[in-house]
Amino acid sequence: MNESLWLATAYPREAYPVVDGDLTCEVLVIGGGLSGLANAYFLAQQGKDVILLEKNTILHGATGNSTGKLTAQHDLVYADLIEQFDVESAKTYFNANENAIQFARSIADANEIQNAHSVLFSQSAEGTDLLLREKKAYEAIGIPFTLGGKAADLPFETSKTLRLENESQIHPVRFGQKLAQLAQKAGARIFELAQVAALDTDRHFVKLSSSKEIRYRQLIICSHYPIEALEGMQILKLDVERSYIAAAKTTTPFDHQYIAVDNPKRSIRTTTIDGQSYLLLSAESHPAGADKDTQIHYDRITDDLKTTLQHSDVVYKWSAQDPSTPDLVPYAGAISTASPDVYISTGYRKWGLSNSLASAQIISDAIVGRHNPASNLYSPGRTDFGALFSRALLLTGRTVKEFAGGHITRTDSPICTHMGCRTRWNKGDNTWDCPCHGSRFRADGSVLEGPATEPLNLN
Ligand SMILES: Cc1cc2nc3c(=O)[nH]c(=O)nc-3n(C[C@H](O)[C@H](O)[C@H](O)COP(=O)(O)OP(=O)(O)OC[C@H]3O[C@@H](n4cnc5c(N)ncnc54)[C@H](O)[C@@H]3O)c2cc1C
Repeated sequence: MNESLWLATAYPREAYPVVDGDLTCEVLVIGGGLSGLANAYFLAQQGKDVILLEKNTILHGATGNSTGKLTAQHDLVYADLIEQFDVESAKTYFNANENAIQFARSIADANEIQNAHSVLFSQSAEGTDLLLREKKAYEAIGIPFTLGGKAADLPFETSKTLRLENESQIHPVRFGQKLAQLAQKAGARIFELAQVAALDTDRHFVKLSSSKEIRYRQLIICSHYPIEALEGMQILKLDVERSYIAAAKTTTPFDHQYIAVDNPKRSIRTTTIDGQSYLLLSAESHPAGADKDTQIHYDRITDDLKTTLQHSDVVYKWSAQDPSTPDLVPYAGAISTASPDVYISTGYRKWGLSNSLASAQIISDAIVGRHNPASNLYSPGRTDFGALFSRALLLTGRTVKEFAGGHITRTDSPICTHMGCRTRWNKGDNTWDCPCHGSRFRADGSVLEGPATEPLNLN
């Protein structure tokens, strides 16, 4: 399977223990990506007794497979936020993400974070119109910007650029490893190979697939996509989009990170890791599970890196997916008044590095009883999602089943264990992908990415 540049160049891996008995804590966090680790850190630092459970090893989910841009310039977003909400809300979103970047700078060193200007660029008249609409939104909100001509670093035709200065880029795995270390130092207990297979939000415990139970007062679900047991709750479906990234060796790192506002849609950055620089290109998006042959996307992105970006020494290729909410803003907070002790953090629309830190700030503030100016905007209760999710959690009992292993070759595709959709074989990654909610399974049927938690039946 393809591996991300970040996972391949992580710091030496710290092994976290497995759960070998029933446990109790104040705050239980599910998921060892940036969302879960940031929540664990913020809360442990404020004296909470925190346990974090990661079903695989930390940072191997979307976080370890992202592009690593840590910026409040989330593609075209501010004009749409003003249209859907208002200027004040768009400003709140900007400030929450800027504060997240400041926080990241305060804990990370030069191997984990660097400064970079964030640049939107257009390639067509329609794209330039979109860029100018976004510029107007920046003006209304008070976001400092520079409007410029062509993108100087890029070896293909561009029209206009909209630049936000002094944003950041991270090595998402090294940064996450630092956060995990700090969370642990502050007292958080991190466990790996600890898959939550059942929730009982009434009685405040979760059950692992190993049958161990963890009791909690507050639960934070940071599993990237709300987990399991939601049969019949199609309404909870979030759109999940998959994108591809390739990295080639380069000798000319940029000070800027770029994203196109029009087609061809490309997100571009460079990074220097241990003295070697790389150019990263992210492109080729499609609804998760919708494409049978993902090898085509890897081939196209590699060709584009070679021909358009003139970098032929492609050394890493990988892909990832991320869910979006209907209104561009993530869900972060208590899921509803009916389940005030259950918090969720999801729906980052491929901008979850700063948003996961912002969301963790919102959730940890709520748990310690501190006001956060972004909590209403990010509340899962602002749509039906929070209430429906809460109802689903209260209604669904679940029994834990042993996971079956063993890969068999087959011609028809197995049924996803989340909600029963037929999966599709992904030749590029050797995985079974579900087109309905984005679950992915390894060739042997074991779960690679949720929301499914149970393996495929390959018999
Ligand atoms: C191609 C691509 C590029 C991106 N680039 C950027 C970027 O440049 N900048 C940016 O801001 N954002 C980017 N994003 C978005 C960003 O990567 C994600 O939004 C963010 O990493 C999500 O973090 P997370 O902690 O919520 O999820 P994850 O990192 O996926 O972590 C969730 C964790 O939960 C664990 N888990 C799941 N179920 C269970 C269970 N039942 N029990 C225990 N553990 C469980 C998983 O194993 C996983 O480790 C990108 C996304 C994609 C798809």
